[in-house]
Amino acid sequence: MTSPIQPQKPIGILGGTFNPIHHGHLRLALELYERLDLAEVRLIPSARPPHREPPSISAEMRLAMVKLATEDATGLYVDDRELLRGGLSYMVDTLESLRQEYPHTPLFLILGMDAFMTLPHWHQWKRFITLAHLLVVRRPGKILPMVHIMRDFLNTYQVRSVKELLHQPAGHVLVQEIPALTISATQIRGLIANGKNPHYLLPESVLNFIHTHHLYL
Ligand code: ATP
Repeated sequence: MTSPIQPQKPIGILGGTFNPIHHGHLRLALELYERLDLAEVRLIPSARPPHREPPSISAEMRLAMVKLATEDATGLYVDDRELLRGGLSYMVDTLESLRQEYPHTPLFLILGMDAFMTLPHWHQWKRFITLAHLLVVRRPGKILPMVHIMRDFLNTYQVRSVKELLHQPAGHVLVQEIPALTISATQIRGLIANGKNPHYLLPESVLNFIHTHHLYL
C-alpha cells in the first residue's frame, strides 16, 4: 500500500522596499498566514529594486526595520537574501534560490493586484509561475481594468481554492480578497518630513529606530 503524500505547508513570499515597513504590510502578511494556513510568510526587502527609483534609505536600514517589526510576530520572518546576493534584486533570482532551498514546498508569491498588472515589465516574469504559485491580493469590491495579457494569463492559470495549490510546488494563480489598511510608506515618509506624527501607522519599535537614526527628515 502506498501512503498518501502529505502536502507541505506553503511558504508565503512578500517582497517590497519596506521603506519603512508598516502595519499595512504586517496585517496583509498575518491575514494570509492565518487564512491560508501557511508555514510562514517571508518578508524579503528588495536591496536594489530594478523598476523604481533607489530607495532613500539604505537596504541595511530597511532590513533592520523589518527585523524589528517581525521580532515577536507569529509566522512572519525576515529574509535577507536580496541583500546578500548583491546586484539588482530581480524577483526571478529570489524565487530560484528559494526553490533550490525548498524543492518540493509550495511557494506563494504575494502580489497586490496592481503589481500583478505590471508583471509584464518584470525581468523574466513568465518564469515566476514555473517557480511559485502567485497569490494575488485584491481589495474587496475593487475591480481594476485588466490588461489583455494578464486576463489571458489568469484564464490559463487561475484556480478557485487554495486546496488546488497544495499538491504542487508552483504553477497556479489564486486571487484573494483582503481588506487593505490605507497606509503607505510614502504617506509615512511624508508625515515625518513635514514634522507630523506617524504614530499607529507602524510598529513603535520601527518608529523609535526612525527617530534614533533621524530618517526621512
Ligand atoms: P511606497 O509607498 O514607498 O510605494 P508601500 O507602502 O507600497 O511603499 P512596498 O514596500 O512597496 O510598500 O510594498 C510591499 C508590498 O506590500 C507590495 O506588494 C504592496 O502592494 C503591499 N502593500 C503595501 N502597503 C499595503 C497596505 N496598506 N495593505 C496591503 N498591502 C500593502
